[in-house]
Amino acid sequence: MKQKKSFYTVLQSATTKLTLSYLSVIMVMSLTSSTIFYVASVTELDQAPSASYRTKARDPDHVLDEWIGERAAEGRGALAARLGILNMVMFLGGVYLSYYLARRTLRPIERAMSDQDRFIADASHELRTPLTSLLLSNEIALRKKHLSEQDARHVIQQSIDDIKDLRELSDTLLALATRTPKALNPTTATLASIINDATKQIALPARAKNIAIIDKTVDRSIKTHAALLTKCIVILLDNAVKYSPPDTSITITNTTNGKSASISIKDEGYGIASSDVQHIFERFYRSDQSRTKTIGHGLGLSIASNYAQDLGGRLSVKSTLNKGSTFTIHFPLS
Ligand code: ADP
Repeated sequence: MKQKKSFYTVLQSATTKLTLSYLSVIMVMSLTSSTIFYVASVTELDQAPSASYRTKARDPDHVLDEWIGERAAEGRGALAARLGILNMVMFLGGVYLSYYLARRTLRPIERAMSDQDRFIADASHELRTPLTSLLLSNEIALRKKHLSEQDARHVIQQSIDDIKDLRELSDTLLALATRTPKALNPTTATLASIINDATKQIALPARAKNIAIIDKTVDRSIKTHAALLTKCIVILLDNAVKYSPPDTSITITNTTNGKSASISIKDEGYGIASSDVQHIFERFYRSDQSRTKTIGHGLGLSIASNYAQDLGGRLSVKSTLNKGSTFTIHFPLS
């Protein structure tokens, strides 16, 4: 909370400083151009009538000069007053414009900071559940006067499950925090080898639920970040298995269109309600339905979406509740 307050204080002071900087630039420009304009105009006004004009006007005694002098003084005053009003207007308009520009400049930083705050709060919340369970089960076991071997084994097993959960969560948080897409170079690989690699990683959980993975892709050689693409497919296949009832199937298809390609993973699972679809790529988002049915942290799709972006592409989804979902990775062929 203290950190949050200090961030907003820093943001406020940065907004004030930036507003003042923009305002100084506007006012320096306005005052400089007004001064140049005033000096140029006054020089013109102060010019005495030429001798030929004086002869023509029959004013050898310089009577006209007095009148012209008075008019020039009046003109100077009026010009100074108008320029003063103009600079006043520039100042008031400048305050508004400078504040608007300062807010616009700082908005992305503010957004990034509040995203980070939310991410840390959500991550701590997710870490709390397995940690509390770990603490409670061990404390309860310790308080018992006699602990049978079976009870001890049960507590140890529960602790191992919680530790695995924590390790998985910390791995995914690390994967989200350490994206280094630019360090990777695209390589040439066959689509079949990428799909094969991904399906192998999901074979066990799929077999446990008797879910068939049908590969209908048309093989071709592609130049891309094969490792990233494989990881992205694995996340989507893993979800397809997790959110499908037993004895269903998952179909993988692909399209290639000149310089871009797509890979789709279609399941016959629980589907996603239209109210949830717009949120599922957000970090830590889980639909109420999946909270009750499966374990997870709501991070998989945001990681998959990051991978798709790192490939220079994007992830899309089409889903019908109780019928199934199709997730598609669209990516360019480098
Ligand atoms: P997790 O699976 O850990 O909850 P994800 O980010 O992978 O996290 O998924 C977010 C949410 O999107 C899931 O909780 C689930 O509600 C929904 N979802 C993802 N994939 C599917 C799918 N294939 N079928 C149905 N719902 C899905």
